[in-house]
Amino acid sequence: MTARTGEQFRAGLKDDREVWLGDRRVDVLTEPAFAGSIGGMAGYFDWQHRYAEDCLVEDRETGRPMSASLIVPRNAEDLQRRHRAFDRFARYSQGMLGRTPDYVNVTLAGFVARSDIFESKGDTTYSGRLKRFYREVVEGDLSMTHCIIHPVVDKTLPDLKGINGDLALKVVRRTPDSIIVRGAKILATLGPFAEEMFVYPGAPQPPDADPAALLAFSIPMKTKGMIILCRDHYGTNRDVGDHPFSSRFDEQDAFVIFDDVEIPNERVFIDGDRDVYNGLMQHGWAANIMQQTCIRAAVKLEFAYELATRMAQATNADKRPDTAAMLGELWGYSCLTRAAVDSAEKDARDWGNGAFFPNDRPFHAARSIMPSWMVRANDILKTVGSHNLLATPSLAALDDPRLGPLIETYMPGANGMTARERAKLFRAAWDFAGSALGGRVELYERFYLASAPRNHALDHMISQAMRPWTQLPEMFETLGVA
Ligand SMILES: Cc1cc2nc3c(=O)[nH]c(=O)nc-3n(C[C@H](O)[C@H](O)[C@H](O)COP(=O)(O)OP(=O)(O)OC[C@H]3O[C@@H](n4cnc5c(N)ncnc54)[C@H](O)[C@@H]3O)c2cc1C
Repeated sequence: MTARTGEQFRAGLKDDREVWLGDRRVDVLTEPAFAGSIGGMAGYFDWQHRYAEDCLVEDRETGRPMSASLIVPRNAEDLQRRHRAFDRFARYSQGMLGRTPDYVNVTLAGFVARSDIFESKGDTTYSGRLKRFYREVVEGDLSMTHCIIHPVVDKTLPDLKGINGDLALKVVRRTPDSIIVRGAKILATLGPFAEEMFVYPGAPQPPDADPAALLAFSIPMKTKGMIILCRDHYGTNRDVGDHPFSSRFDEQDAFVIFDDVEIPNERVFIDGDRDVYNGLMQHGWAANIMQQTCIRAAVKLEFAYELATRMAQATNADKRPDTAAMLGELWGYSCLTRAAVDSAEKDARDWGNGAFFPNDRPFHAARSIMPSWMVRANDILKTVGSHNLLATPSLAALDDPRLGPLIETYMPGANGMTARERAKLFRAAWDFAGSALGGRVELYERFYLASAPRNHALDHMISQAMRPWTQLPEMFETLGVA
């Protein structure tokens, strides 16, 4: 098997994974609350076949089709090829799904490209395991969730000190063939709907960090002792026309508790080596993954622009100066995002070991500032939409013999827009920006690759390390000021 269909994806969920929704242990395939989301994820797998020219490439080892997100990038063509796939994958949900399987696929492919980092002191044990795992993912088209953040309870303490350290995931026992881990991790988006839980380093750790917590591994979601504790589900099983996003795209976040979980050695990729643990995130990871995330963001912002513009046209407000300014602002964010991707790809380079990744500089800048753009995009959608976002009959109400004609009379849009068109449009906008799912996605945009303040501070530190002082000394020299 390679490049699965939606039906094959569903079949992969048939196991006894321990998923909790509220106080109920649920079977994900039969749980009514998850039906829309599972349909949405199955749709993603069908989408890759529908747009196979964009989404799939030939696996060089088997000759079978595989997701282009699994390309191990070695040159500019590889980056362009997967760019096309990221764009097409993002269009499936208009960027509302942040953690479609292509997200972790890109990370895994990037790790394989930098497998040298796993080869501490010439030992190929761990890089060999990683490469074999990569082949399992390619050949099974496995969907992976990931959780990389320690459950920091007290933010005055380092990640692995005091109560934070007590709760962090770590090795508690060993057997000749495995490690036994205990602790928790935040936050596995797609957790209940994935096949593999991939744990890898989040942030670099100091020299005194407990090596037992410096881990990377992957295990099937059905592994005994792994508890997937879901947040409330924000998806709805109602009509797709009324709820185009929340009827399909709640990708379900979950807290993960490892209650003495056995990880076979074959699936352990980092085991206490701080150089490897810290090195992994510092040598191309961000440059690699942010090609996917920024392309998704561009698709989403372009969609938000179209949505806001159509709403403004529906009330004939699009030429009003205040509205036109907001629409132009939104368009500007999408253009800047595309420009960051173009620039990063243009200056792509070999990051070591033949791993060809984009330039990370435009990506870092875009990632730091993106949360404010995404929040502002929702703000603009709500401002442009106003009360119209809530004056929205369901599409079924339009078919009612008594209500339908009244709605057609009293709820049309401007410029000849029918009541049905208007209802569809404003309902989509509310589902995008204002619904329970819309609120969750906004939180996702703020935090999914760390918070904006953390990213801004990091950008500043990188700049201080990389950039020579030039302009200030030059000015004083030119002025002859001692
Ligand atoms: C919906 C959602 C889905 C997610 N999915 C996943 C997933 O699938 N897998 C995964 O591993 N992770 C996932 N994450 C991301 C992970 O949980 C984030 O790392 C986390 O949300 C960041 O939280 P934090 O508290 O560490 O942020 P912080 O960066 O600590 O920020 C928390 C607050 O502290 C402030 N702050 C932080 N640093 C500074 C600073 N230097 N200066 C000033 N203020 C600062 C920020 O303003 C912010 O308000 C997800 C997050 C969300 C919200």
